[in-house]
Amino acid sequence: MSKTISEGLEQVQERIRKACRSAGRDPDEITLVAISKMKPVEDIRDAFEYGQIHFGENRAKELQDKMDQLSDLDQVQWHMVGTLQTNKIKYMVDRVNWIQSIPKKKSLREIEKRASRIDRVINTLIQVNISQESQKSGCDPEGLPSILEYAQDLDHVRIRGLMGMAEFVKPEEQDKIRPEFRLLRELREKYANYSKGSVELEHLSMGMTNDLEVAIDEGATMVRVGRAIFGERDYD
Ligand SMILES: *Cc1c(COP(=O)(O)O)cnc(C)c1O
Repeated sequence: MSKTISEGLEQVQERIRKACRSAGRDPDEITLVAISKMKPVEDIRDAFEYGQIHFGENRAKELQDKMDQLSDLDQVQWHMVGTLQTNKIKYMVDRVNWIQSIPKKKSLREIEKRASRIDRVINTLIQVNISQESQKSGCDPEGLPSILEYAQDLDHVRIRGLMGMAEFVKPEEQDKIRPEFRLLRELREKYANYSKGSVELEHLSMGMTNDLEVAIDEGATMVRVGRAIFGERDYD
């Protein structure tokens, strides 16, 4: 029998507790975002019934469809975690709670414009390219201060922290990516004085199925986990 979603969630929660124990951290500091991309809405309902509140998707259309189909689950917090195209923002802004993958000022300007019309405030994270791989999205570390400064005066966007994706490595090579997570934490410290107005750099969203332990050890406050909860995806 294959692993059920409740078993998957339980195992991930146990991994988080263990990682916190060895890092001397409180598990309550960590928000688990269940990444449900390419999985059916029934799986999301299952996880919700088991107490999971935060769900993330990486494609605008899929996110929109799932928010539509699950509109009765009004306690769910929806996260957009995938590469953000400015022209897709209008499709999510009426319901999404977090946009984790902000790469540039232009995205913030568009969210501000759209969210102000419906009087919503959207939580966001700035995605930083911490792996230096060209195909990964996010701003360069040097671009961060000017984005943060721009965001301070926005009324319908709150910057709640930074998001990063590490290079993809084999499970036994997790320590290779530790410097990438460390870089994200150091950037939060370096730019802590930009926390004013709508900017509050409290969160570090980093760590996925393969690397959540290293990420928690380096200070993650949000982990984004898909496969360990919902099982392998057919393709990516
Ligand atoms: C798919 C995805 C995840 C989750 O990856 P898993 O390996 O399934 O845990 C996390 N973050 C982003 C941005 C993703 O696209």
